[in-house]
Amino acid sequence: MKDFDLTKLVRANVAALKPYSSARDEFTTQGQEMIFLDANENPNNNGLNRYPDPQQCKVKEKLADVREVATKNILLGNGSDEVLDLIFRAFCVPGKDNVITLPPTYGMYKVLADINNIENREVYLDHEFEPDVTAILNKVDAHTKMIFLCSPNNPSGNSFDENKVSSILDNFKGLVVIDEAYIDFSEKESWLKKLEYFPNLIVTQTFSKAFGLAGIRLGALYASKEIISVLNKIKPPYNVNQQTQDKALKSLSNLEIIKIQIADLLEERLTLSKELLEVNFIAKIYKSDANFLLMEVDDANERYDELLAKGIVIRNRSNQPLCENCLRITIGTKEENNQLIKAFKELDNE
Ligand SMILES: *Cc1c(COP(=O)(O)O)cnc(C)c1O
Repeated sequence: MKDFDLTKLVRANVAALKPYSSARDEFTTQGQEMIFLDANENPNNNGLNRYPDPQQCKVKEKLADVREVATKNILLGNGSDEVLDLIFRAFCVPGKDNVITLPPTYGMYKVLADINNIENREVYLDHEFEPDVTAILNKVDAHTKMIFLCSPNNPSGNSFDENKVSSILDNFKGLVVIDEAYIDFSEKESWLKKLEYFPNLIVTQTFSKAFGLAGIRLGALYASKEIISVLNKIKPPYNVNQQTQDKALKSLSNLEIIKIQIADLLEERLTLSKELLEVNFIAKIYKSDANFLLMEVDDANERYDELLAKGIVIRNRSNQPLCENCLRITIGTKEENNQLIKAFKELDNE
């Protein structure tokens, strides 16, 4: 992307904003033991009596190592949901700007657009669940600030064709957000490697899926240091709490466990899809780069209810475009998957 001008994208009020400066922001350690009487905290140490590091330096250093990016290219938030909301608030003028999303996809982009009063222009994926680049670029106007690509995509499970994504990045002067919530289940390379080439690229990832830490609420956004600076101006000062930072740091120091869990899950994904292919009312199982499978059945509403009656909750996606009669199934533990297979086979024999 040549002629990319970030200053043209930032909302005027955000550009002019002087961020809240927390007591701890202004302080840099000189190496000596300090007495902290600056933030009106309770001085009695219980492990959590101090405000957390607003810049989460330790977590970022570890994450930078693991993802092979610089800390200045990272922003952390209270789940991906928060970092996605921050980009809406930094770049989109309510009632005036628009974004483009590609259904069927993650529902949160539209919810965030609605909350922020931003028009959400939908361009459906094609029948291969790939972006229709021409149609997307045709939807762009002077007020289009962002295009959201979810790759691997939820709920279809596929990763988008690299050339199509590059073509969008090359031809759109706004921001291209690639949501990589499921990247660790994919053999495809992360777009993080391309941050240097595309000043308009934002990549988001999460600790909620492969890292198994949905409960701590931690999302990461990677982008140019200029974009990160804009977002740092508007993020709440203490948006990632101490317990979350501690837990993330621990997890990032024990990557072997995560790698084993991912390998197990991929094996289960394969077993599950093989077994489910034997079920007659399952017409199709889509290839997945994620920790779930999308499948087409004879009657999604009926099958959904039947599984529910057997105590198994899955996701009915049949009201999504291109997902007629489709169910989405998260890969569970071996035991859970076996129960699911058993339930499906029982229904098949009824
Ligand atoms: C699950 C998921 C996320 C994770 O959101 P968090 O707020 O980090 O838990 C993000 N994007 C997609 C597409 C997801 O499916």
